[in-house]
Amino acid sequence: MSEFEQLGLGERFRRLIRNTGPISLAHYMAESNAAYYGGKDPLGGAGDFITAPEISQMFGELIGLWLADMWINAGRDEPVHYVELGPGRGTLAKDALRTARRYGLEPRVHFVETSQALKDIQLSTLPGAIWHDDLSTLPVDGPILLVANEFLDALPVRQLVCTEHGWRERMVGLQDEDFVFVSGGQTMDPAVPVDMREADAGTILETCPAAAAILFEVAGRLAEQGGCALFIDYGHAEMRTGSSLQAVREHRKVDPFAAPGEADLTAHVDFATLARIALSRDVRHLGTVTQGEWLRALGIETRADNLAHKAPHYKQEIDAALDRLVADNQMGSLFKVMGLASERWPGGVGFPAA
Ligand code: SAH
Repeated sequence: MSEFEQLGLGERFRRLIRNTGPISLAHYMAESNAAYYGGKDPLGGAGDFITAPEISQMFGELIGLWLADMWINAGRDEPVHYVELGPGRGTLAKDALRTARRYGLEPRVHFVETSQALKDIQLSTLPGAIWHDDLSTLPVDGPILLVANEFLDALPVRQLVCTEHGWRERMVGLQDEDFVFVSGGQTMDPAVPVDMREADAGTILETCPAAAAILFEVAGRLAEQGGCALFIDYGHAEMRTGSSLQAVREHRKVDPFAAPGEADLTAHVDFATLARIALSRDVRHLGTVTQGEWLRALGIETRADNLAHKAPHYKQEIDAALDRLVADNQMGSLFKVMGLASERWPGGVGFPAA
């Protein structure tokens, strides 16, 4: 390891900025999250944040049911591939695949994951999986059933800000030793939609080129190979302005610039833009609905009652988990579920196009 590589990420960024000038926010976020996810398991009660599959097995089970229902209605094509992007601890996959198996769906399992620390955990949860660094090596011989929960929000965003000199990229610079936002030197007006060019000073536009590229690829594969996809994340179903960048550490919001690589950096997902990209590739956008609506339509309340009936001692825990997943003041309305399917596949339960 070189002397430079041994420095902490914050110090490496400082040297880089001193030597070559401000770096883009996307660069800052990409390297920070690669360092963050690369070295540790951030999930679970003792970690930095908790996700829906870690809250309750019901989440993965209902996803497994949804996928099995789609696959059965589409004619049970084989081979069929379960693909999960950023599978974390592998909990969602384990719960989904256990449920799907009861309906005869036993797909090959593919994980797209870059974190070595999380790959090690996934290997013990699902030893039969095949790992990929990106989507390019996924198989092409059969439909894919793709799931991505809280994956897109971790991808680097780019921000443009309207200044008195026109639109500029929002960059990360230094004030003494502290990271601060500065405006880039190049004019970015051509990258801004025409109706936004004359916005008020300070208006921010946030885009996620990596998420756009992934949607383009996934939609293309659904069109070619058949299959369906669920993207679940917090975000909005209509286009918005403003920065949604946030950092979370030990279950608390922290300053995204305080300790790069030591907090989870995320941004809200712009589902409206992603749905448009998917539609450009001849797949069906089944809809983008709130997590609460979707899980209720799939029968989560009945599932919770059944679980509590079988294990009465856990009734309180099960009810609390249900509330966290579906209540409007919890994950129920902030989180959205976007469903996509090949045009040859049926509509899915819980979506308006069903
Ligand atoms: N889906 C899991 C984990 C969410 S955390 C759950 O719901 O619990 C985000 C996941 O995406 C982690 O597994 C992280 O390592 C992975 N990840 C983040 N950026 C990635 C990238 N660029 N490519 C592949 N995986 C990535």
